[in-house]
Amino acid sequence: MANIKITRTQNSRIGSVDWNNLGFGVYFSDHMFVAEYKNNRWNEGEILPYGPMLMEPGLCTLHYGQSIFEGLKAYRCVSGGINIFRPDMNAKRLNHSGSRVCIPAYDIKNNIEAIIELVKVDKDWVPQKKGQSLYIRPVVFGSSNFLGVHSSSDYLLIIMTSPVSSYYPEGLNPVKIMVASEYVRTVRGGLGSSKTAANYAASLLASAKAKELGFSQVLWLDAVTRSFVDEVGAMNIMFVIDDELVTPPLEQGTILAGVTRDTALVLAREWGMKVSERALGIDEVFAANEKGKLQEIFGTGTAAIISPVGLLSYKDKTIIINEQKIGPVAQKMYDTITGIQYGELEDKHGWNIHVEV
Ligand SMILES: *Cc1c(COP(=O)(O)O)cnc(C)c1O
Repeated sequence: MANIKITRTQNSRIGSVDWNNLGFGVYFSDHMFVAEYKNNRWNEGEILPYGPMLMEPGLCTLHYGQSIFEGLKAYRCVSGGINIFRPDMNAKRLNHSGSRVCIPAYDIKNNIEAIIELVKVDKDWVPQKKGQSLYIRPVVFGSSNFLGVHSSSDYLLIIMTSPVSSYYPEGLNPVKIMVASEYVRTVRGGLGSSKTAANYAASLLASAKAKELGFSQVLWLDAVTRSFVDEVGAMNIMFVIDDELVTPPLEQGTILAGVTRDTALVLAREWGMKVSERALGIDEVFAANEKGKLQEIFGTGTAAIISPVGLLSYKDKTIIINEQKIGPVAQKMYDTITGIQYGELEDKHGWNIHVEV
């Protein structure tokens, strides 16, 4: 796959970007990578101008939701060039997600190479300011047309990119989170450990209701007992309780194995913090708060990196965390992870792929 075919756009849209108001996923860069799976194999793939695609109303994914995606970012490095953060993890996770919904695996090396080439072609779309980045969104979906219920025979992998500012308009300001008590998102044996479109469909109504009530996100509980913390819709969740970093475990398969989650856990262990990946009851969180031992709550995810939680509401109880200010662990986590991503701090773990442009 050394030489990816590239067809460059004749009409770059880069002049229409408002770099001071990027938002999240509003602008699409000039190019996309497209690979097709047909006759039981993926083709070479190529880079094309980003634009509309023809499809039939019978496209199976519209009906049965056979769709998975990824999300990672490229950052302008302070010393020049561009850093792509841990793309190997996303390439592996894409295949894990696919395995649960019968989508054929895509070669990990080819995936990373396609991303590198795409970032090079659209290097001018990687924003310049710290806090901004180029969000990279691979999506894979069944592309055959039929109405019978079975998995697709053909698939498309499309990788698009979007210059973004940080995900939450609040920035690093703590967000208000509502614990879902009416709805559930994933269940043991379900799709929770896969990054599927279906998980997001399941979450939209609760998110919309929470937003109406003034919350920015929902914290999901396990679907069986409705008492253990799972994760936030697009972020994993971490708690600092009595100086210990606690986060729900991956074993149940109900939460996503976040790359930012993994990064944060590696760093916390390196700093000598006590770290536990264990089941955490929502009652335990509120009880810890009563005893004055709940120090911080924060979400981890590629979009916001670290998102401190300032207020948590569950049924008729609401608690304020750390006076609605970002806590020391969340701050250090944010500074360290973004420091590595933007090339300001040493990348001891070799997390970045550095692209000279
Ligand atoms: C993408 C996602 C996350 C965050 O994962 P990262 O790899 O850290 O970006 C967490 N939870 C869900 C449900 C997600 O879809």
